Amino acid sequence: AKPLVAIVGRPNVGKSTFFNRITGTKLAIVEDTPGVTRDRIYADAEWLGKEFTLVDTGGVDMDTEDVLLRQMRMQAELAIEASQLILFFVDGKTGITSEDYEVAKMLRKSGKPVIVVVNKTDNKNDEQNIYDFYELGLGEVIGISSSQGLGLGDLLDLVISGL
Ligand code: GDP
Ligand code: MG
Repeated sequence: AKPLVAIVGRPNVGKSTFFNRITGTKLAIVEDTPGVTRDRIYADAEWLGKEFTLVDTGGVDMDTEDVLLRQMRMQAELAIEASQLILFFVDGKTGITSEDYEVAKMLRKSGKPVIVVVNKTDNKNDEQNIYDFYELGLGEVIGISSSQGLGLGDLLDLVISGL
């Protein structure tokens, strides 16, 4: 089987936008508001002849923040367990949130290799925020913009070098 690469992170950081860009599908539905129910979605991807399967850990239906956190953790744990490499998505415009710290804690426990992907790095100004995310205490940090299509090649280079 192809190596599995999981996209993990709190809702609304741009996981599905990235997934769609990379896999060329519209399977992972992008929403302006967090909280739309989605299952984990798998798609095959290829970069420089190296094939892998991407899994987009979807958003969750939530009434309360507790439900959100619980569901997010469950989805992510399943994906993490099965994956060779984790793309931990965070929002470069918002900065680190308490939910990001929750996910980071879980990822550290898993012992799996992690790339911290600072999405929404749309311009030069946003680039200044990338380094704040080293505070999460995980692996390499890279800035991308899924909506603008910036930094995707560099990220994919990093992904296949880690498989
Ligand atoms: P998910 O919940 O993590 O899957 O996030 P989505 O992919 O559904 O995106 C949430 C929102 O962020 C949508 O409004 C996207 O258009 C927006 N978004 C995604 N990537 C970027 C980006 O690189 N820059 C900006 N400015 N917005 C983005
Ligand atoms: Mg999504």
